[in-house]
Amino acid sequence: MDDHQFRTAMSKFATGVTVIAAEHDGHIHGMTANAFMSVSLDPKLILISIGHHAKMRKMIESSGTFSVNVLSREQKDTSMLFAGQKQATHPYSFNTFANLPIVQESLVSLACTVHNTHREGDHTLFVGNVYNLLINDHAEPLTFYNGHYKNLQFEGV
Ligand code: FAD
Ligand code: NAD
Repeated sequence: MDDHQFRTAMSKFATGVTVIAAEHDGHIHGMTANAFMSVSLDPKLILISIGHHAKMRKMIESSGTFSVNVLSREQKDTSMLFAGQKQATHPYSFNTFANLPIVQESLVSLACTVHNTHREGDHTLFVGNVYNLLINDHAEPLTFYNGHYKNLQFEGV
């Protein structure tokens, strides 16, 4: 099996899209990530997986805190911006929530402290302790499937 086959297989797992944000030394950095999951209810833990070479890894290791922002379908450009697929024409303006930078208009924003860190292969898994959150009930999710952004049609099955 080569890398392409592995990525193609993983791309069949439809996901939402998040932007992780962290602040260190007065600098705010954002990064698009779909490797995100809920881990535990007691305590309230989530997990993100960040490539070793991503700038975001050092930002989180330095700050010890990060936000996870679940994007809405209106935020495809935001996802592309923080994946390096689109260049910013002006500095991105983050909001502040629970002392952390967050992406405004997200479906959900989670404020996290680093609970645990695991190096696995070429990624670092950060387990985050969620200490506060915001929910926007009036938006629908951006999704990523088969290497493309999708807008879901919500129909019962
Ligand atoms: P950079 O590549 O330097 O930054 C990312 C982009 O964000 C750059 O264009 C930068 O200019 C911009 N940016 C950052 N901060 C600011 C700011 N304050 N103002 C304006 N612009 C800013 N990688 C993973 O490791 N894990 C994943 O789960 C993951 N999921 C992904 C899901 C999708 C749908 C996509 C498209 C990509 C995913 N990636 C994932 C890849 C990851 O988003 C890119 O490799 C990203 O470029 C890595 O970011 P970086 O931290 O190295 O910083
Ligand atoms: P893609 O076709 O490369 O991604 C499809 C799926 O493969 C992703 O949803 C993810 O589950 C998996 N994947 C891709 N790259 C991976 C990596 N380096 N490590 C672990 N799993 C990976 O999608 P794309 O639109 O071509 O992605 C744009 C860029 O973002 C690519 O450079 C891709 O490598 C990167 N990306 C990284 C991750 C990740 O690190 N977890 C996830 C998605 C996309």
